[in-house]
Amino acid sequence: MPVGTQGTVKGLTIDQVASTGADMILGNTYHLRLRPGHETVARLGGLHAMSGWDGPILTDSGGFQVFSLGSLNQVTEQAATFRSHIDGAIVVLTPEHSIEIQEALGSDVAMVLDHVIALPAPQAEVEDALARSIRWAARCRAASTRSDQALFAIVQGGLDAQLRRQCATELAAMPFEGYAVGGLSVGETPEEMYATAAITTPHLPVDKPRYLMGVGTPRDLIENVARGIDLFDCVMPTRNGRNGLAFTDEGPLKLRNATHREDQRPLMQDCECLACRHSRGYLRHLFNAKEMLGPTLLSHHNLTYYGRLMSEVRTALEQGRFEEYAAGKLRGWGYEPIPLG
Ligand SMILES: [Zn+2]
Repeated sequence: MPVGTQGTVKGLTIDQVASTGADMILGNTYHLRLRPGHETVARLGGLHAMSGWDGPILTDSGGFQVFSLGSLNQVTEQAATFRSHIDGAIVVLTPEHSIEIQEALGSDVAMVLDHVIALPAPQAEVEDALARSIRWAARCRAASTRSDQALFAIVQGGLDAQLRRQCATELAAMPFEGYAVGGLSVGETPEEMYATAAITTPHLPVDKPRYLMGVGTPRDLIENVARGIDLFDCVMPTRNGRNGLAFTDEGPLKLRNATHREDQRPLMQDCECLACRHSRGYLRHLFNAKEMLGPTLLSHHNLTYYGRLMSEVRTALEQGRFEEYAAGKLRGWGYEPIPLG
């Protein structure tokens, strides 16, 4: 899922987002709650009508942004309380309020509010956040009223195999339409992330989607699909695109480098994106001249690259040749596949 933080995938029109092959996008509850406000979004017809996206939308619960953006944030059993990073106003986010916001936004998939902590953390702190996340998940389930909105639970537990198993097992026994692996992409190594996905997914229902939140690089997608993950979201393709970095099968290209000055080749042969109609030399020029088209074109390329990667992954899985496909991609990027188990 491309990330549409503020009700827009940065730098792209909604038709351009659709033309990357994306099926589903993500909206951020925290940001939209603060600006323009969920009631305003509802009066503008909901997130689909407002943004012009008619495919599925998933909204996060705000838990991660409270952790990463909110200042003076304080978590009690009742709520996460934080100061808005926009105007300093105090906002109290309870599990019930998170659901109320997501119902007003009108997303197709809502996420439960979870208690996110920085890693590494003392064991007692990890256990406390995990237990609270399970209680908050139950409160979110009880608060949800829209039958047209799926609700996904979030497995916490840091890097601890025992806690991940316990959390996954408890949440799997509750009625959710899908399950996320949360609390990752917060400073752990890629190997620790892959190991955590591997110990969590066997305890989740096989017939419901598994979503790894906030991940990741092309390598992260491949390694985590190998460990049973179906769905991802990340700002990486668009954020890197805005900064002049393009993902390719040979690894990332930094377009600002002088080596591209008179390079007539596109970023990739046979890429159908808007950027690949132009030369690397032209794209480099756009970034050096600070033209807004540069970030737009590279965001389009990167989302197209990610979309194509996941499409190829689905085909390889269907044809029973995922392992071979994954090894080829990883080696192209300069990585050896990490053995499972
Ligand atoms: Zn391209």
